Parts: sequence; structure tokens; C-alpha cells
Amino acid sequence: MTTVEATETANEDRPQTLTAFDRCDSCGAQAYMRVTMASGGELLFCAHHGNKHREKLTGPGNVWYDESYRLSGGQG
Ligand SMILES: [Zn+2]
Repeated sequence: MTTVEATETANEDRPQTLTAFDRCDSCGAQAYMRVTMASGGELLFCAHHGNKHREKLTGPGNVWYDESYRLSGGQG
């Protein structure tokens, strides 16, 4: 008897690096944080607004991608 296994290739969601083209939705500065909402929407924030909205936008299903550490690194 042969068992056929359906192998699904899971497309792993790799965090996509934020670039200089990504802009904060609040002020237009370069974005260092991205929130993927449970609803599927996406928001971009600079470090300042990311920290400001973090509490409000932290919830089940909301995924934060935070690159603000790059700000203190000195090098882009
Ligand atoms: Zn901002």
C-alpha cells in the first residue's frame, strides 16, 4: 500500500526590510516600524510614532516589525 503525502511548501513570511521609500503614515518621515494588522492591513511608522501608537495597536494578530534599533546604530 502506498501512502501519498501531500507536501505543501509553506511560504514563510520573511520580514521585509524597511527602506528609505517606506514612510511613516503619520508624519512622512522614514519608517522604521511596520505593523501588520490582523485584518491584513499594514501601517508604517517612524520610531517616534511607532512608540506612540504601539500600545493602541498591539493586539492579537497584530505583528510588529521593528527596525528602530538601526537608528541608534549610527550606520544605515
Ligand atoms: Zn512619524
